[in-house]
Amino acid sequence: MLMDDLRELYQATILGHNKKPRNFRVIEDATHRADGRNPLCGDALTLYARVNESGTVEDLAFQGTGCAISKASASLMTEFVKGKPVAEIHADFERFHKLVTGPPGVEPDVRDLGKLAVFAGVREYPVRIKCATLAWHALRSALEDDGETVQTE
Ligand code: ZN
Repeated sequence: MLMDDLRELYQATILGHNKKPRNFRVIEDATHRADGRNPLCGDALTLYARVNESGTVEDLAFQGTGCAISKASASLMTEFVKGKPVAEIHADFERFHKLVTGPPGVEPDVRDLGKLAVFAGVREYPVRIKCATLAWHALRSALEDDGETVQTE
């Protein structure tokens, strides 16, 4: 996908998911949870995951307050990760992180990222990187089970 197409999609996707975030709820029988904070912007979310015995993320949800990018990113992440094995998530995290922190003007590598590809748009707004990656940091912290609040700084 070309950068120009991504730019257009970026706006529409962020606005849509901010207005109607997917999986915006508490999972009562969550096996993992973590809080994430981005003091720079005021984003705060709690992530809930239910992982089954075979190591698959059966359910993933979040609640919290924050800017449109942090909410849309969490929303899209829950859709993307749900149903995946925990073992794959580290690589997904790395790929997403590279996508949002890559140099602007360089064609992003969006292989296997699906709808998350629109976050390549964040490259042009470096101050927003922490908003876009907050949910991912919280997910990683939840799955590592250290139970601590993650800060993006
Ligand atoms: Zn934010």
